[in-house]
Amino acid sequence: MPSEVFFGRGVIKQNASKLTGYRNVFIVTGKKSAKKSGALTAFLEVIGGANFQIYDNIQENPLLSVCHEAGKLAYDFEADVIVGIGGGSPIDAAKAIALFAANPEMLPDDLYKPPFENDPLPIIAIPTTAGTGSEANAYSVMTLDGKNIKKTYTNEKSYPKMSFVDPTFTESLPIEVTISTALDALAHCTESLLTKNSTTISEHFAAEGISVIFPRLAQIAGSDENISEEARDDLSLGALYGGIAINTTGTCFPHPMGYNLTLNHGLPHGKACAIFQRELIYIHEVYREKHPSDRKLANNLDLLFRSYGVPMSEALDVIDYLADYNEKFSDDLIRLYVERIKEVKSFASSFCEISEEDIFDIYKHVVGFANRTK
Ligand code: NAP
Ligand code: FE
Repeated sequence: MPSEVFFGRGVIKQNASKLTGYRNVFIVTGKKSAKKSGALTAFLEVIGGANFQIYDNIQENPLLSVCHEAGKLAYDFEADVIVGIGGGSPIDAAKAIALFAANPEMLPDDLYKPPFENDPLPIIAIPTTAGTGSEANAYSVMTLDGKNIKKTYTNEKSYPKMSFVDPTFTESLPIEVTISTALDALAHCTESLLTKNSTTISEHFAAEGISVIFPRLAQIAGSDENISEEARDDLSLGALYGGIAINTTGTCFPHPMGYNLTLNHGLPHGKACAIFQRELIYIHEVYREKHPSDRKLANNLDLLFRSYGVPMSEALDVIDYLADYNEKFSDDLIRLYVERIKEVKSFASSFCEISEEDIFDIYKHVVGFANRTK
């Protein structure tokens, strides 16, 4: 991972010298959180006399067209760096904007048509949620205009050049966003361990991520909503670990399956991934029974279970309780959702490949009218 990642309280001030020397700084944020979290002020305090322009129009699940538009503004501003301050939405947006700003002739859809004439501008990431891990990978999840589809752009030059992960900035998060973003980070770690392209290093980060995030979520589920500094530190660190893990492996089916629930039913991204975790574990346990010679899966499942530190059934109850989603959909709607995501490559990355029919069945068990007979 070619990013320089600084972690801890006060890291921006402590590394101020890294942030001087830019001429025109283009800052990408959502409406409120960059200011509310204190991250924007902390950043502006250290950039010396640089010119800056703030683009604060990034909404949750950022639209490709909005990032394209922002790219033009950054080009006109002659930006020499793009800074994403906020949750995964502004940071992912910053990655796309950095490419558009360097290639003003590009149309929005060209984001998915490499090679590109010019490399993206350098990106700096300052997360204010503890969830996506976007600060540690090159993924940028865009929502395609008018299509209700999310599509990931990734480019080996789209890693943040530097990331400043200061858990202080997550203290202003409402409890519901804290929960959802932590569930996202936990999903990254769990899903990463169940991809066949995991490595010893990605497995280590995924397992560590689970072991720091899950106990904090269990505390919250046990109605301890006063989140301590230590808990915030753990959640930010776990999210960073999850981002590093999926940088190697990508995610499994809960991510694309969740996109339909986020875009069509407003379920926040982390919760939308969380509701599929029970199926993810179930399917891999069944697969392990059928393929006892697959040592890698057996080892990864064992590591995963150990990392949770409680019986998996208990952990899944906590996850379902926090995700708190009970809507049910008709078979026809589910078929439409399967159609929208069936080409996404996360379905091929898990140990057991997931067919179109499997996707339909999983939806039926989670948000349809079928029960899993175990
Ligand atoms: P988000 O969409 O960036 O933000 C969610 C909400 O939280 C927004 O209303 C935001 O407000 C608010 N918020 C953020 N930080 C806050 C703070 N410190 N205090 C108070 N409010 C705060 O949430 P996210 O879950 O971090 O990002 C989700 C996006 O990332 C999705 O598009 C998802 O697909 C993508 N994603 C990317 C990756 C990756 O690897 N790159 C992985 C998973 C998911 P403002 O609007 O005011 O900012
Ligand atoms: Fe995610």
